[in-house]
Amino acid sequence: MKGLADLLLLGNPLLYQAAKPVEQAELNLVKTWVSDLHNTMEEIRARYHFGRGIAAPQLGIMKRLIYINIHKPMVMINPELTYLSPELFDVWDDCMCFPNLLVKVKRHRSLTIQFKDENWNDQTLDAANDLSELIQHEYDHLQGILCTMRAIDEKSFGWRK
Ligand SMILES: [Zn+2]
Repeated sequence: MKGLADLLLLGNPLLYQAAKPVEQAELNLVKTWVSDLHNTMEEIRARYHFGRGIAAPQLGIMKRLIYINIHKPMVMINPELTYLSPELFDVWDDCMCFPNLLVKVKRHRSLTIQFKDENWNDQTLDAANDLSELIQHEYDHLQGILCTMRAIDEKSFGWRK
């Protein structure tokens, strides 16, 4: 079982690599990956008091897989953003790969995302505000993009107290 000790940290080259699609034949592996992601997020929450979502590449699992757990768990396999609103908003973003660093970024106010769920069923989700910026953060991880790379300017960095 993977956990906090397996989390890749800022600067690890794998965090800048694009992940590969999950194959349907890998669905049994998805169960293991999701429990690893869940376990890691629980450990982060216990230690740092944040964490709503995590992407598989953060554990070095280079697959297009996102796990979100706000009120209930949600698994997104091979997600694709199909709509991004023109309206943007500023967010102080955080990331488990650099738990004390905050980065001010611009995110789209709302979006639509399509993905397969843990049963390989097609799903479409419309999200706005908090959920929208969270999904954009996790989706970026699948493309090898960290929020440090989206900082609005050179002063858009803060330290979590
Ligand atoms: Zn992150």
